[in-house]
Amino acid sequence: MTFEQLELIAPIQQALKDENYVAPTPIQVQAIPYLLKGRDILASAQTGTGKTAAFAIPILQHLVSGPPPPRGLRPIRALILTPTRELAIQIGESLNAYGRHTKIRNTVIFGGVNQNKQTQALRRGVDILVATPGRLLDLMNQGYIHLDTIEYFVLDEADRMLDMGFIHDIRKVLAELPRQRQSLFFSATMPDTIVSLSRKILTDPVKIAVSPVSSTAETIQQYLYLTNKSSKPELLFHILKDPEMDQVLLFSRTKHGADRICKNLGKKHIGAAAIHGNKSQNQRQKALKDFKEGRVRVLVATDIASRGIDIDQLRYVVNYDIPNEPETYVHRIGRSGRAGEEGISISLCEPEENEYIRSIEKLIDQRIERVEDHPFPQTDSPMTAEEKRAFEKEKARKRQEYFESRRKNKGNRDTGRGYKRNKR
Ligand code: AMP
Repeated sequence: MTFEQLELIAPIQQALKDENYVAPTPIQVQAIPYLLKGRDILASAQTGTGKTAAFAIPILQHLVSGPPPPRGLRPIRALILTPTRELAIQIGESLNAYGRHTKIRNTVIFGGVNQNKQTQALRRGVDILVATPGRLLDLMNQGYIHLDTIEYFVLDEADRMLDMGFIHDIRKVLAELPRQRQSLFFSATMPDTIVSLSRKILTDPVKIAVSPVSSTAETIQQYLYLTNKSSKPELLFHILKDPEMDQVLLFSRTKHGADRICKNLGKKHIGAAAIHGNKSQNQRQKALKDFKEGRVRVLVATDIASRGIDIDQLRYVVNYDIPNEPETYVHRIGRSGRAGEEGISISLCEPEENEYIRSIEKLIDQRIERVEDHPFPQTDSPMTAEEKRAFEKEKARKRQEYFESRRKNKGNRDTGRGYKRNKR
């Protein structure tokens, strides 16, 4: 499925191209056609699935193509209610991005900051309002906002809203909305309380579920290297000594980090290319082609850029950092071991990321195998002074051993454990 097949208008198609989106995500494929037809939806989807674009694109398209409001008036036509300031800001940014070739205006309001800038924006007139519940009610009470012109209403992260105690605020907002409207309801989980709330909001909704990623393919062997942040470049080099690893997809959380990793690998004469949001479509395509055709051994990608990359039979995924959303880990390692092929994932974890590993192991309900025997172990874990001394001594010994073996082998062969031996 392509964005063209979703029959989006040209200015939105162009914006998605500018964003370097290659293809719609499953939630977008499932939701957008119904939303364009005017249906209500009840969607079970979490952050990271592309749900923001799934609701933002159809709303923008309706506002651009539908009948305009009476001349001289700019009433608020869409309201997106979301639990936190961070989410509100992100949604505002997405609307700016997808709507950049349209004249649709949005503004974001949330508590904890002075309201003046927000009320000024409201006075100038906005088409789409993104709000957290408290500040919305506050500004409604002060007469800055009227909801009787709302045509599209989105309740985002409904389960989190309820957890945060917003139910009364939501009820008050609902009471002000016109009956005639299109409503969109998003929640990561669907307990009874959420389902009954959704019944009060939606009319004959289409139900959509994007399966939460929670189980990792059984064909993927997962390894974890506990190390320190400063040791990661050397540790990566040590791992890549394994000649079996001839095609590696490596994930970096940030674009800047991705560039740095590429540079470091280049210095060690390991062919690497980066794909991320700051690279042009041409640069990305070239990187991918070079990787697929074996001219580049390591493809360094950010999570967002990695979507839409299709590489058959990719064997190795390396997590240079540990994602803070456990689902992202599952997505990342899911890139290896496709179609029954065996995959191997290797994660490099610094002390600050230990917590993330715990959440990942909880989600996948399994313990990731620790590789104990490597020259750059984590040192920042709490230890007694005596343990620390013994540990440092052992670390120095291992390091010495490693560098000696490198000297002996002139860096050509790896003495570490080969993954091949551990297969199955
Ligand atoms: P969300 O689940 O809405 O928080 O989206 C997660 C991330 O995916 C955001 O950074 C979006 O920019 C990105 N994204 C959304 N749709 C697509 C797509 N079709 N292709 C690539 N990235 C996307």
